[in-house]
Amino acid sequence: MNNILYKLSNVSATTGIIRKFSVSAAKNANFSCKLLVVGGGSGGCTMAAKFARKLKKDSVIILEPSSDHYYQPLFTLVGAGVTSVAATRRDARSVLPSAAKWIQDSAESIDPEQNVVKTASGDTINYEYLVVAVGVVNDYGKVPGLTEALKDKNSGVSTIYSPDYCEKTWADFKNFKGGEAVFTYPDTPIKCPGAPQKIAYMADSYFTKSNVRSKSNITYNTCLPVIFGVKKYADALMKVVERKKIKVNYKTVLKEIKADRKEAVFFNTDDKSQELTLPYNLLHVTPPMRTPEFLQRSKQLVDASGFLTVDKFTLQHTKYPNIYGIGDCTNTPNSKTAAAIAKQSYVVEQNLRQTMRARGARRAYDGYGACPLVTSYGTCVLAEFLYDGVPHETLPFDQARESVIAYYMKRDLFPFIYWNFMLKGYYNGPEFVRKIINPFAK
Ligand SMILES: Cc1cc2nc3c(=O)[nH]c(=O)nc-3n(C[C@H](O)[C@H](O)[C@H](O)COP(=O)(O)OP(=O)(O)OC[C@H]3O[C@@H](n4cnc5c(N)ncnc54)[C@H](O)[C@@H]3O)c2cc1C
Repeated sequence: MNNILYKLSNVSATTGIIRKFSVSAAKNANFSCKLLVVGGGSGGCTMAAKFARKLKKDSVIILEPSSDHYYQPLFTLVGAGVTSVAATRRDARSVLPSAAKWIQDSAESIDPEQNVVKTASGDTINYEYLVVAVGVVNDYGKVPGLTEALKDKNSGVSTIYSPDYCEKTWADFKNFKGGEAVFTYPDTPIKCPGAPQKIAYMADSYFTKSNVRSKSNITYNTCLPVIFGVKKYADALMKVVERKKIKVNYKTVLKEIKADRKEAVFFNTDDKSQELTLPYNLLHVTPPMRTPEFLQRSKQLVDASGFLTVDKFTLQHTKYPNIYGIGDCTNTPNSKTAAAIAKQSYVVEQNLRQTMRARGARRAYDGYGACPLVTSYGTCVLAEFLYDGVPHETLPFDQARESVIAYYMKRDLFPFIYWNFMLKGYYNGPEFVRKIINPFAK
């Protein structure tokens, strides 16, 4: 019956009457489960797969509104014209574990005292244990002019941070005939903090190929005081920046886009009254990001910035022991990447199983994250590191060096691992490979 209701809900986007019927009928639905996973993206799908295999059928419910699942790390290469957005997408139904029940709806509120989640359609889901994996969303509205500029096909403004606009980046690359190419990095936590500069490096390579580089300037504007948070890789990337003659403005944040004049206005993080206006022919924006609104409203669960408060080692909620968090929506100080989620998934799996047995969490997440920084069509710096920016490399060579192997790992190997192992709950990061091929590394 509920399946029928949800099908009607889908149809409802075009017909108000059916929607009203389906929503009011669905209001009565009341589900219960042992484990509820809210969000079925990289982290949620991985966790649901791990537990659906272990627990009885339908003990796991996944609450996920989208019928599309994207492998987001490839959006950078979509923007650079290496692949298409279609190649990064699969039906959510084909990746979510069949042994779990998928409710295609959004969480509207979490009541951690009563162990109840309410959905946007008015259903209630009672859980014993909860994994929150709702990621972050782009906050386009924070930059006046951005939403309109992204929607305008001819604006020259795009972002690789959305399946809706990453192909526009490629179109803008091809249309660029020289002039000012401007890139940005906002002052909020973002996923894949390397991607804003990766796309600038790819722009340089493409403009060189298309013979427009000599008549163009590339400017990279970042809120950070350094090019990258881990010194070893920052040193290597500074050489890339210098070789490519990319101008870097530090502590510089996009404030507004004046699309009619093709100008981007920035502020300085030390003194917000200090403005910089850059004219652009191509503007690539990394939008500000935040957690979904319903999570921000769940005040008992989040910090002042709206991120789920979990212990940075155990990934267990700091106040509610039956709640765990994984991925971009938590307040752990690691780099928000799919690579981090692979490692976190093992820790959450082990610790949540302990919690289910009424024992204390015992595994610790070490902050592992990885960032394959493509520097051209064919080279990549493969940054891997732990909490506090401590390098932790898998391959038996200096990964700060630009390498061809790392480029093909990013393009071909990592997507293969993601679809075939990680989302099925069988990949916990490269530690086992590291022990074999790089056993003497610190
Ligand atoms: C351009 C780009 C480049 C990247 N490059 C890399 C890279 O090279 N390497 C790397 O490891 N990582 C990279 N990443 C980061 C990586 O893709 C993310 O860190 C990862 O996918 C986050 O997983 P998640 O589960 O936390 O969130 P997501 O995968 O975003 O999933 C969150 C899910 O929650 C759902 N949701 C939202 N609100 C609700 C709600 N109210 N109720 C229920 N569900 C909800 C959403 O529909 C979504 O499916 C990149 C990302 C981008 C965009």
